[in-house]
Amino acid sequence: MKDNRDNTGREGGSLDFIRTIIEEDIRSHKNDGRVHTRFPPEPNGYLHIGHAKSICLNFGLALQYNGLCNLRFDDTNPTKEEQEYIDSIKRDVRWLGFDWEDREYYASDYFEQLYEYAVKLIQKGKAFVCDLTADEIRETRGTLTEPGKDSPYRDRSSEESLDLFERMRKGEFPDGSRTLRAKIDMASGNLNLRDPVMYRILHAAHPRTGDAWCIYPMYDWAHGQSDSIEGITHSICTLEFEDHRPLYDWFIRELEIFPSRQIEFARLNLNYTVMSKRRLLQLVNEGFVHGWDDPRMPSISGIRRRGYTPESIRDFCDRIGVAKRDSMVDIVLLEHCLREDLNRRAQRVMAVLHPLKVIITDYPEGKVEMLDAVNNPEDESMGTRQIPFSREIFIDQDDFREDPPKKFFRLAPGREVRLKHGYYITCNEVIKDEATGEITELHCTYDPETRGGWSEDGRRVMGTLHWVSAAHALDAEVRLYDHLFTVENPLDQTEGDFKDYINPDSLEILSDCLVEPSLAKAEPGDRFQFLRQGYFCVDPDSTDGRPVFNRTVTLRDTWAKIEKKLQQK
Ligand code: ATP
Ligand code: MG
Repeated sequence: MKDNRDNTGREGGSLDFIRTIIEEDIRSHKNDGRVHTRFPPEPNGYLHIGHAKSICLNFGLALQYNGLCNLRFDDTNPTKEEQEYIDSIKRDVRWLGFDWEDREYYASDYFEQLYEYAVKLIQKGKAFVCDLTADEIRETRGTLTEPGKDSPYRDRSSEESLDLFERMRKGEFPDGSRTLRAKIDMASGNLNLRDPVMYRILHAAHPRTGDAWCIYPMYDWAHGQSDSIEGITHSICTLEFEDHRPLYDWFIRELEIFPSRQIEFARLNLNYTVMSKRRLLQLVNEGFVHGWDDPRMPSISGIRRRGYTPESIRDFCDRIGVAKRDSMVDIVLLEHCLREDLNRRAQRVMAVLHPLKVIITDYPEGKVEMLDAVNNPEDESMGTRQIPFSREIFIDQDDFREDPPKKFFRLAPGREVRLKHGYYITCNEVIKDEATGEITELHCTYDPETRGGWSEDGRRVMGTLHWVSAAHALDAEVRLYDHLFTVENPLDQTEGDFKDYINPDSLEILSDCLVEPSLAKAEPGDRFQFLRQGYFCVDPDSTDGRPVFNRTVTLRDTWAKIEKKLQQK
């Protein structure tokens, strides 16, 4: 971790349940007091913010307890996995600030060892080759209330199973014709223990092992044994694997190998989005978004492009903590963590999203003044810059009303306002297009005694506006984002598919924006606060001289309001 947060998992003085287990294990010298975790993604898509929680937890525990964390690709399904995904996963974990050093592993590296383990179980009479089809296995599995039926092949001799298993490996049988199954208990109350399939036949090339294999291990068989091979002490996974733990333990016990311990925690769910690689892939493939890194996506690459910082994501993951019960986290908390971070770090600049021309009639034509502007009042070390001021400027259309309602503390006819870092100006005349009645420009006068935006006499003005100098401003495109879905939980709707709840207004493109000239130097990924408007990040779509900005988040912090209300109660 690159910062020095108190990443202890302590809230109100007590440890979360995972750290409680780990500290007990350290105290009792279990595994010689070693802590070794792993992050085990399947390379079948890009990582999302849910994975970030798992990454922060696994790598965070290793850092906190002087242990190690491996990156292990769970690449046991050759038909869905791709190198592109492996590369993106590595990029994302690194970007989040974590380092697996030389411990980059692949379940496929263990195929030979897993095969030998399987042979050992067959020899012990604890696994058998089954000739039932996948459908037949499903039909004989039973239900939660009814026991399953033993496979007619269950009692075939170890010798026969060994021979068939070897021939499965050699490619003698077609896909789906046989499986290797553990011999446990078809009447078990836990369906995972009803002679689960360990291997299936699949004549498919694997991105790493090529054509070496035509049998592939199932998740439950590959995962725990991979943990054990790597000497993982605490194998942390999400709650849906709780019912798989007896099987995880059964394999380890029967093989008499290093006893990794599986611990389950509740997965992260965020409102107004979906968090499954499979569904995110659908959004990409069916064109609902522009790609995995579309700034509306909850993928790490999407939120990175949107302008999120790794620090804010780590902070968020710390704050939500780990729990044993599933819950939905409000996305406003994630946004709050981001604002806290950017408030301190982002340079504050001026940009006009809906330009309205203002002519300062008493300001000399052709004159340009360079005005000092503070980059971030929260941090003096960020320094100052100079911005040009001239006779013609642009302000935002929203900052002027010809007929201002009550509480409209901005510019209106006859009113005086402050231009940030500039002068006080007063509006004297509103110029309109004769045909349409649309306001085309405002004529104002300025007070030369208020340079920098301050008046000696301390008189009050209606408000402070951002602006840019017409002759110096840079054309820019700004992309505004809203939630990708219109409902909090698109997967929990009585009608239709989750894609029926996609927000048609999740992207708004403003192509006639103007930003201050200092932004000509901005690089993709740079983040700014546009005064009064929010945080924005330079998009890679920017071209020379015409930057494109993504609005990362607005300035309105609803989480801070929620917290304040809670404190008042
Ligand atoms: P998805 O359904 O999005 O594909 P997954 O669990 O199948 O998720 P994996 O690549 O297998 O994806 O996940 C790698 C690790 O990340 C696993 O340990 C998994 O438990 C964890 N993980 C996945 N989603 C979440 C989530 N929403 N919150 C916390 N951890 C998660
Ligand atoms: Mg998975």
